[in-house]
Amino acid sequence: MSATTKTEVCALFGNPVGQSLSPAMHNAAFRDKGLDLEYLAFKVERKNLENAVSGARALGFRGINITIPHKVRVIPLLDHLDPVSKKIGAVNTVVAEGGVLTGYNTDAGGFIRVLSLNSFDPDGKNAVVLGSGGAAMAVCYALVESGCHVTILNRARGLSHATDLAARLNSPSKNAARALPLDGDNIKAALQAADILVNATSVGMHPYEGQSIVPVEFIKPPMVVFDLVYNPVETELMKTAAQAGAHVIGGLEMLVWQGALAFELWTGLSAPLRVMRQAALARLETGPGSSQQGLPAGRQNIALVGFMGSGKSTVARIISRKTGRRLVELDRMIETDAGLTIPQIFARKGQTGFREMEIEAVKTVSAQPNQVISCGGGVVLNTINIDRLRASSIIVYLEVSQDQILARLARQKVEKPVLTDPADPEEISKLLVFREPFYRAAADITIDSSRLSAEETAGRIIAEVRKYERSSK
Ligand code: NAP
Repeated sequence: MSATTKTEVCALFGNPVGQSLSPAMHNAAFRDKGLDLEYLAFKVERKNLENAVSGARALGFRGINITIPHKVRVIPLLDHLDPVSKKIGAVNTVVAEGGVLTGYNTDAGGFIRVLSLNSFDPDGKNAVVLGSGGAAMAVCYALVESGCHVTILNRARGLSHATDLAARLNSPSKNAARALPLDGDNIKAALQAADILVNATSVGMHPYEGQSIVPVEFIKPPMVVFDLVYNPVETELMKTAAQAGAHVIGGLEMLVWQGALAFELWTGLSAPLRVMRQAALARLETGPGSSQQGLPAGRQNIALVGFMGSGKSTVARIISRKTGRRLVELDRMIETDAGLTIPQIFARKGQTGFREMEIEAVKTVSAQPNQVISCGGGVVLNTINIDRLRASSIIVYLEVSQDQILARLARQKVEKPVLTDPADPEEISKLLVFREPFYRAAADITIDSSRLSAEETAGRIIAEVRKYERSSK
């Protein structure tokens, strides 16, 4: 759809904005929903913010995203604030209706949505948040509101800001936040009691890529490590946290969710999450102005298939670390898109609804290069999935003996909605016997990992994939 005299505008005001993923993400969403809206990014210097906001008001913009360095100073220029952005003291989304501008903060909502999709409930837990800038303000608010105790660690230059933030989050009846200097002793002490670590500093992104504030020895499973940095998709902190066995969450999911919540505020429609994620990823992979967006990648991916309990996620994480390929957990992606856990999807939409979402997810990942994809156990049941995966990936079947699968599933507490009784070995064995030929038929490479550690399995797969690539040249 090309712009006409009726086209409405949403905008990003910030400085810099050149690397922003928001224009790609929102324009893809507007096209997907057939909306006559255009999203444009404007570099707005501090001295020009007031004029820019007046201009948006005068020109009847539908909405504005606000980013660094204007999230706080935009507040006096608006007519209203919703209660959340008022409490946080920072706005990242503005809705304009009839010339009246209302500020919102979707960073907080996006952060909490991602935590809940990762089955992390902050209530009664201990969090360590690194940094006290605009993103940390939203994250700390969201955590404290959810019943979490928060330790904010900030380097000396911004410590007074961190102290102010903690004071604003506390109340006479609730002492939920404290601020301390960011140094080795405080990191070590705070992490000893932490359930979740959030990096809300710029460390990990340019010009700090390859750097992490937290030494690997301070990260202990089952800690959740959430890095808000989304470029690169996998940061040094995420790599080391994965090595340490933590549950790792990247900033891209929060970026997509805060964008989705802004989209919903501007349009009143539910956001096309998959389209937004794909557009953001394509922009990240290919950079600005590239013509590569959305093209299939050739067979640059590794897709792991196999029965539940065969260790696909762990092995995929190790392969990702060893080869630099981006880790994609297909089931997690489906949960994020749906805003529901897999058992909830099964309960509400049935297995058929879930399989339809799985097909869409496979389609999306198959359009992206340089990934290691951990597939759900039933992905092989639909040949469309296999055809699509095969176009972009070398498919590896992780074979594990039936006894081991039974032993592992007996130890796992997670729900398995494809099974009526996850504790019944007979039901598991039947499903395994039924699916085994599908795994075998789909695979380019089969690895029997029954006697191998996860590390050894990953090493074997990498070697076999290299051999396979050489032989098929
Ligand atoms: P900001 O307001 O500029 O705050 C940056 C914070 O990082 C400050 O606390 C700053 O400390 C700290 N910092 C910067 N360099 C540091 C260093 N070398 N060592 C230690 N601390 C350092 O930025 P922001 O908006 O909060 O964004 C922070 C990060 O979150 C960025 O990477 C951004 O891309 C990411 N983010 C992600 C999402 C998402 O949706 N995933 C949303 C918002 C932001 P001082 O106070 O001492 O300067």
